[in-house]
Amino acid sequence: MSTFVVLCVPFKRRSEAQTGGAIFDGTEKCWKASREHLAALLPFVPYRFRPDRKPPYLRPWMVPQALWGRNLRALLAKEDWDRIRKDAYDRSGSRCRVCGGRGPKWPVEADEGWQYDDTSRVQTLKGVIGLCPRCHEVRHWGKTMSAGRQNEALEWMAEINGWTRSVAQQCADDAMLQWQDRSRFLDWKCDISWAVKTYGVTPIEEGDAIAQKRNQSFVRQAREQYGSSGGLSSYIHHLFHGD
Ligand SMILES: [Zn+2]
Repeated sequence: MSTFVVLCVPFKRRSEAQTGGAIFDGTEKCWKASREHLAALLPFVPYRFRPDRKPPYLRPWMVPQALWGRNLRALLAKEDWDRIRKDAYDRSGSRCRVCGGRGPKWPVEADEGWQYDDTSRVQTLKGVIGLCPRCHEVRHWGKTMSAGRQNEALEWMAEINGWTRSVAQQCADDAMLQWQDRSRFLDWKCDISWAVKTYGVTPIEEGDAIAQKRNQSFVRQAREQYGSSGGLSSYIHHLFHGD
């Protein structure tokens, strides 16, 4: 592994990074720091290189079925969601918060960080960060599986966390079980007050209806894809038919 680490430096905080020991690589057009400087540059260090963090830096984080489609894109006006996601890109200098990388077609995508309370069944938004498409693919494991990209995603998860492939597979299996368990319930609520407080946005009136419509469409797609055969079929069947 290279002794230099790529950093996530927002445009506005360049001088702060420089003071901490970051250097700008003009050829690759990115900020870098040697490993001995990382402790002084923590806010800019991608999670996988942070000396104060331990793996997993990246794992599947699946949304219970009842909450599919219920996200900021559905619940907010387009310009508000655009502002929030662009701010997420800017805050990491358009680099992936987990690995420091960028995608080939577009650098980063916005990932909503949800926390789940399994007792009250509330999904609470904790923040939005920029992730490169490869890392984002690991987070949205169900979508990645249905696109037939689980091998690539497993390898990436193993590499980022410094795991063997079988440890990554176990982590993905655990995530699926957790998803299955959470998806048995239909009364999940979604709390986006973080966005309301942080950005002063107001959820749109029709947001609930839009989210519901998207949920139905995603569920229909899943039924069509997994309804007859395949690894997901047994519990998808259980979810919809209850037997
Ligand atoms: Zn990444």
